Amino acid sequence: MDRSENMRRIKGRDTSPEMAVRRIVHGMGYRYRLHQMDLPGRPDLVFSGRRKIIQIHGCFWHSHGCDRSHTPGSNTGYWIPKLERNQKRDAANARALRELGWNSLIIWECEVSQPTKIRTRISRFLK
Ligand SMILES: [Zn+2]
Repeated sequence: MDRSENMRRIKGRDTSPEMAVRRIVHGMGYRYRLHQMDLPGRPDLVFSGRRKIIQIHGCFWHSHGCDRSHTPGSNTGYWIPKLERNQKRDAANARALRELGWNSLIIWECEVSQPTKIRTRISRFLK
């Protein structure tokens, strides 16, 4: 792994669920921008003309509530507040984006294994 790849991983960019969704969206013929800095929370995929956003959320980091998102049994004094902060930040970003007139679609990491389902949701969302 080279240094820049390592840095991207540290920043949580270009993770494989996000890449999978990007490939799907690209394959559907939509153009988007990535991680637009001037929007709250630097959303993953930004469709400026449509004022729409697709976010790909990791189940653990964003507390999805599915099998992949259980809080670790040890070191809970560290993890619980950290995950709660993430949830608050997600909610604040979602609210800020709504107030700016953006519609968001969230795709969860655990849904990426069902590309057909994702494609249907995305085409409904973007049309
Ligand atoms: Zn999940």
